[in-house]
Amino acid sequence: MSSEATTGAHSRTHPAPRVSFVSLGCPKALVDSERIVTRLRAEGYEITRRHDGADLVIVNTCGFLDSAKAESLEAIGQAMAENGRVIVTGCMGAEPEQIARRYPSLLAITGPQQYETVLEAVHRAAPPVHDPFIDLVPPEGIKLTPRHYAYVKISEGCNNRCSFCIIPKLRGNLISRPAAEVLREAELLVRAGVKELLVISQDTSAYGVDLKYAASTWKDREVRARFIDLARGLGELGVWVRLHYVYPYPHVDEVIPLMAEGRVLPYLDIPFQHASPEMLKRMRRPAAQEKTLERIRSWREVAPDLTIRSTFIVGFPGETDADFDVLLEWLSEAQLDRVGCFRYEPVAGASANDLATPVPDEVKDERWHRFMQAQQAISARRLRRKVGTRQQIIVDEIGPTVAKGRSKGDAPEIDGAVYLSARRPLKVGEIVTAKIERADAYDLHATVAGF
Ligand code: SF4
Repeated sequence: MSSEATTGAHSRTHPAPRVSFVSLGCPKALVDSERIVTRLRAEGYEITRRHDGADLVIVNTCGFLDSAKAESLEAIGQAMAENGRVIVTGCMGAEPEQIARRYPSLLAITGPQQYETVLEAVHRAAPPVHDPFIDLVPPEGIKLTPRHYAYVKISEGCNNRCSFCIIPKLRGNLISRPAAEVLREAELLVRAGVKELLVISQDTSAYGVDLKYAASTWKDREVRARFIDLARGLGELGVWVRLHYVYPYPHVDEVIPLMAEGRVLPYLDIPFQHASPEMLKRMRRPAAQEKTLERIRSWREVAPDLTIRSTFIVGFPGETDADFDVLLEWLSEAQLDRVGCFRYEPVAGASANDLATPVPDEVKDERWHRFMQAQQAISARRLRRKVGTRQQIIVDEIGPTVAKGRSKGDAPEIDGAVYLSARRPLKVGEIVTAKIERADAYDLHATVAGF
């Protein structure tokens, strides 16, 4: 009998089944993983980090790019080799044939958000041993992120049909959660000690369209399922609120004053992907017609501290030298703070593959380097402007000599860090005021000036 089986006054007659969990892919997949892990813990399963010795392994896969699929297949292979009893779920599970061909003896393959099917497969393979006195799960669920920040998924699926993306095929059309449900989850997280909420979805600015912006009751008042109302509600909780995957629609302008007032972090993650009108049309991007440079300028007038992060694709089929020059020119005008750039990679099933002649790999590489060089200079300049200022920093990790944290302009996992020195020990999750001493290409270095 395992030591867990005899914890406290109650004892189990059987040891708890052990499940090893691998979570791959984007923050949206991470939220799915958290839901599955929460349910399993609630049912008395033990979650372990090792495949070896577990009763079974769940692999939550990512199928967005072919390289992500390869990584997913490799993770499944490793789980098969080390354990042999494997359930596959997530985006790649939406196309089970290629997984089943390679690994015919998997216990089950389920698609994204099929929590119930995953749990049924787990129940069949390793029936639960439940003891309500031992299997206590905090009401906010189990978080896979550190305790001081949490992702809040406000909708599933997407109504757009970007030509390089198969997410709508995998996840279906937009389904938004009622505003009250999201706000209640956020409240529970804050009560449990979360200091930063990261709002995610496939298209945050489209939130509520499918619900016709219906109102729901939160704290004895009606809150509509609208982007701005949700941002306002989250902004009342007294923690950092960061918005990801927003498109530059006109109604996004409404959230900028909330940023200027300090209710929502002055941070927008907007995947622009390109700037040439022809490319945006071919990519079938949402809000492609919007005058984004003017919009960015007016946002910065209202909220001068606004940090804008974005991602771009170079070498999209049919991208000419002229299209690429438009992109570089736009980039130098836009002066974005944080930027990621991908060389276009065909995704099986995406309509972009048949659009036009592919751009040769060496041209993609050359454009990628030119793009990165141009942006690095901009990002470094924008970071340097912070030297000498005082910023609030949230502490993520404590090291032997310095602590690592983030300013309001840095999202976890994707942006840079702030390295902090302090005269007294810091705590993870604490928010301190620090004086920025210097900047390098991606990160800042600071001294704590106040608590
Ligand atoms: S907005 Fe476009 S890229 Fe994003 S999930 Fe929807 S279809 Fe895919």
